[in-house]
Parts: sequence; C-alpha cells; structure tokens
Amino acid sequence: MGRSFQVVILGGGTAAGYAALEFVKNDYNHGDLCIISEESVAPYERPALSKGFLLPEGAARLPSFHTCVGTGNERQLTKWYKDHGIELILDTRVVAADVKGHTLRTSSQETIAFRTLIIATGARVLRLEEFGITGSVAPNICYLRSVQDANKLVEAMAACKSIGGSAVVIGGGYIGMECAAALIGNRIPVTMVFPESHIMARLFTPEIAAFYEQYYEKRGVTFKKGTVMSGFERNDQGKVEAVVLKDGSRLPADLVVVGVGIRPNVSLFEGQLTLEKGGIKVNGKMQTSNSSVYAVGDVVSFPLRMYGEMRKLEHVDHARKSAAHAVQAILCPEKIEDYNYMPYFYSRVFTLSWQFFGDNVGSCIHYGVQSSGKFGAYWINKGKLVGAFLEGGSKDEYAALARVARDRPEVPDVNLLEDQGLGFAMAH
Ligand code: FAD
Repeated sequence: MGRSFQVVILGGGTAAGYAALEFVKNDYNHGDLCIISEESVAPYERPALSKGFLLPEGAARLPSFHTCVGTGNERQLTKWYKDHGIELILDTRVVAADVKGHTLRTSSQETIAFRTLIIATGARVLRLEEFGITGSVAPNICYLRSVQDANKLVEAMAACKSIGGSAVVIGGGYIGMECAAALIGNRIPVTMVFPESHIMARLFTPEIAAFYEQYYEKRGVTFKKGTVMSGFERNDQGKVEAVVLKDGSRLPADLVVVGVGIRPNVSLFEGQLTLEKGGIKVNGKMQTSNSSVYAVGDVVSFPLRMYGEMRKLEHVDHARKSAAHAVQAILCPEKIEDYNYMPYFYSRVFTLSWQFFGDNVGSCIHYGVQSSGKFGAYWINKGKLVGAFLEGGSKDEYAALARVARDRPEVPDVNLLEDQGLGFAMAH
C-alpha cells in the first residue's frame, strides 16, 4: 500500500490548478491534498498553447503561464504547492481506479488511497486513426493538447520555415483557426481543410464566419471547405510531403496540424460511475454517481441550470469555475448552492478577439459593420435573447453582453434589436 490522502485530484491541468487554489484560499490542512498528473509540469493555463506559445517572437514559455495567472491570481509554481503542503505527483499516469475501494493505481505501481476524489482528467485529442486514416504519427504531423505537443509544433514550424515550406491545417474549429493564425504569424502559408461549409461551424453563422475567412485569406490562408482528407504521401524518412483529399487531389505539405476534436478522458471510470453525453455525469455540486467522487472541467456532463439540461462544455472558464465549485461543495456542503453556470467562450487570433455568452440556438440577428472591426450577433429563442457574440469589444461591452445573456430579456421587436445592436446590451 502506498500513500493516502483526504483528497486526491486526478489530473494536473487547468481545473486542477484552480481547485488547488480554492483549497489554499480556504486554509485546507497541509498534507491532506495531492494532485496526480501524467504531465511533467505543474498545472498551467492550457489556452496559452495555441496563442502566446506559438508567437514568432517573445513567445510565452513556462513558468510564465502556470495557473492561476489567467484570472489575475498567483502563479503557482512547484514551490507554491510545496509551501502549501500539497503533494504534486508529476510524470505519473493513473492506470486503474477502484471507486468503491477508494484507491488509484499509478503507472509506477503505487496504490494511492483517497477519502474524496476530484476527477480532473480533461480530454484527449481525437486522432485521425479514429476517422479511418492511418499513419498520423510523423515528425511533421502535430496535434495540440499539451506542452509536449506545443514543443513539437514549435520545432516543426522552425523546420518548415527553414525550407520555405507550407502547412496544411486539418479542422476548422478553434484549434484549427488559432493554429492557422500562428502559422501565418510565423510566415508559413496555410491551407485549411474541413468538411463544413464555413469555419467554426458549431458557433459562427455564415455571416460571422465570412468576416474571419476574408481576414485569413488576406493574410495568406487558403480554404478547402466541404471536404475531408483521405491520406498522406510520405518520403523515405516517413515525413509527410502531401495531404491527399477525398476527391483525389493533393496539397503539398511540409507540416500538418490536426485539430479535429476531443474526447473526455473517462475510460478509468467506465462501469463505475454514471456517464452521460460522453462525460462523467455530475450534479449541481459537481458530485458524480458516487458521493465521494467529484468531477470538474472538460470531463464532465453537468446540469446547466439556466437551460434545464445536461451539457458538456470544453472551455477554460467552465474548467476554472467548476473546479472552485467542487472544492466549495467538499468543504462547505451545507452552504453551497447548485452550480449555476452561463456558457462563455472566447478566442484571440491575429489582432482579433471575440467573446460569446449564452446559447447559440434559435434565430440570429447581426449588428454593426464588419469592416469597422466591431460587430456582433444576438440569438433569439422563443422570444428571448439567449446568446450574444461580439468581435472587437471593450471590457465594459463584454460585461454588458454577459449580463444580457444571463438575464435573457424578452425581445418584442427583432428589427429594433437589430437597429440598437450593441446599444441594446449596453442599456440593459
Ligand atoms: P486539462 O487542462 O486537459 O487537464 C487534464 C489533465 O489531466 C492533464 O494534465 C492530463 O495530462 C491529466 N490526465 C488525464 N488522464 C490522466 C491519468 N490517467 N493520469 C494522470 N493524469 C491524467 N478554452 C477557452 O475557453 N478558450 C480558449 O481560447 C481555449 N484555447 C485552448 C487552446 C488549446 C491549445 C487547448 C488544448 C485548449 C484550449 N481551451 C480553450 C480549452 C481549455 O484549455 C480546456 O477547457 C481546459 O484546459 C480544461 O481543463 P481540465 O483541467 O478539465 O483539462
């Protein structure tokens, strides 16, 4: 038998860092808490990997973006965990969990016992093999989830740049968009390939997407929409030289970046905890079907109280807030109310920056002039404003959007809303 802790946080990502901070803020006892992570560094703000980390100059590197700097809190270095009596077990994968027996088994064959477990295992990238494409392991094929992946991408970008090469980005979601912007920033021409009719199809309307697509095209990105890749052409060293599309055409590629989605890391708990929508099902206290086990961040399906349904949200704001909420639920169960989260996502590419609050369901009206760099959209469902998007807003304007998306006011006159545009949220 190995070590034993009151609370074990399984996973050392963004949510784990914020959970640790919440315990420390509440003077949780030294020595009672441990974090087990397969990564070799303390928890960090993962969104930095596709933004500051990939800049051609002045790139962000650890330790600059350890949690919880993303919300203006302290930068928690390894020493911070030591100073607060938190055991940070790095480079250690948990290979088995016994929920009823309250134990975890690690890759080093240690058994670690817990009284309370917080699952913060996040998500893994979907690999091309899962779409029936073989051979996505090559020095110039990159995925992006961890610092290790980001280091590989930086090396591959340097190699590509040194030969004046070009890149293909597979996937038109936010990883694809952010990576394409970073590649262009590094003076590497990019072709983006995705099956949808426009970028960010899960959130953007065709009108919103058109703005970003034009912006990208002007900077050297070519789009191959409505199609998928079917394979690679390689040289004798196993390096990819071209991406082959379904219609048989080929795109020369010295670097391939794949961003085709993620899956929550739930496998350790299949058959032991209730799952829903592919995530670990939790209640409003982030408690799973076993009352000693909590789950937070990308790995959970949670009740989104505002909309009365279960949701899975793979975004950093939810990771941070759900982590803090679970800790409050563990420390003060009698005081804590149910998690009442409002969806919030953002992205930054080139010099652009957008934020979205609420739900993108129902009909959509657009406002503002795209060429001015500030424009937005509202989603109206069953007569109420339910979602709000804005590119190029100020802090106050985004705060107004958040307010309006949370309050969900009636919209008696859609034409008036369109005329008022951002003014509607500001006056609310
Ligand atoms: P993670 O941060 O993924 O942490 C999970 C941790 O668990 C990892 O350390 C992992 O190694 C570890 N782990 C998993 N299984 C085991 C095991 N068996 N044993 C030990 N350790 C294990 N969101 C936004 O809202 N805006 C953005 O702009 C944005 N940009 C992003 C850019 C990139 C490149 C990426 C990858 C994500 C981005 N996100 C963004 C999403 C955001 O980073 C995630 O929602 C957030 O990191 C989720 O936190 P988490 O702690 O649940 O999971």
